[in-house]
Amino acid sequence: MRSASDEAFLALVSAFFEEALTPDLRQAGRQTLGVHSQIEACRIWHARLFARGWIAPAWPAAWGGTGWSARQRFLFDRQCALNDAPVLFAGGLRSLGPLLIEQGSDAQRARYLGPILSGKDLWCQGFSEPGAGSDLAAVSCRAVRHGEAYHVSGTKIWTTGAHLANRMFGIFRTADGERRQHGLTFLLIDMDSPGLTVSPILDLAGQHDFNQVFFDDVVVPVDNRVGAEHDGWSMAKRLMQLARANNTPRPWCVAPCATPAID
Ligand SMILES: Cc1cc2nc3c(=O)[nH]c(=O)nc-3n(C[C@H](O)[C@H](O)[C@H](O)COP(=O)(O)OP(=O)(O)OC[C@H]3O[C@@H](n4cnc5c(N)ncnc54)[C@H](O)[C@@H]3O)c2cc1C
Repeated sequence: MRSASDEAFLALVSAFFEEALTPDLRQAGRQTLGVHSQIEACRIWHARLFARGWIAPAWPAAWGGTGWSARQRFLFDRQCALNDAPVLFAGGLRSLGPLLIEQGSDAQRARYLGPILSGKDLWCQGFSEPGAGSDLAAVSCRAVRHGEAYHVSGTKIWTTGAHLANRMFGIFRTADGERRQHGLTFLLIDMDSPGLTVSPILDLAGQHDFNQVFFDDVVVPVDNRVGAEHDGWSMAKRLMQLARANNTPRPWCVAPCATPAID
């Protein structure tokens, strides 16, 4: 049952949709086949939500969230779905942003959170590899440390939107531990790095969502590491937890903190 405050909130959302969720965007929303809607519609809808201050409802208010309750977030998501809003390209909003708020360094938060909110940066996810899908601990794309940088060589696959994104987060093999989950490191990589190439994979309908990404000695500064070296498995698990639990980081946790020990 809806309360009076629910009704007031929904009226606010409806008024905004009336003005901002234009017929072209609704059409793009209805036509969504893949993980996100057609990219231009995503960009426009993202910009309008950002201008309204509603682009990251589940982030803590101190980092650009709305301060809505879980119920309000649910009502908002429901209204988006009922009204055919475009499905955003949301790797930064849903996955990386919450992880950086919780586990990133001050410098990483300062550098990356703003462009995620504004839509300037689009992030793709570099987890899967040709030999590491369901068995993700088999990741073998290697990052070798030379001083203050990692040199990355190998490949990632099924990378949704790698051709649209300007940045990638992912896990890379930095050591061969006794357990395969040990020795992975979580890195942030610029897609225009020398040595990085994106090769499209078309699906059976001829649509281009997926890619294979190749790394040939791609240099990644150590500052672009999230969490400790060799501890990328914990970071990847935490990222998935955040993305799948309505991406609410623990707001009190602004310094690197222990992640749950789940293997
Ligand atoms: C729409 C979509 C978007 C994606 N986007 C990304 C992305 O952006 N970035 C990214 O990193 N990855 C992405 N992926 C990849 C995805 O996250 C999985 O890693 C990948 O689909 C699974 O790996 P695979 O395709 O190699 O299948 P495999 O791991 O080879 O599995 C093939 C089949 O075997 C089954 N199987 C596997 N192991 C076992 C076992 N031990 N016992 C019984 N059955 C088993 C599986 O259930 C499956 O049916 C995406 C996938 C999809 C479908």
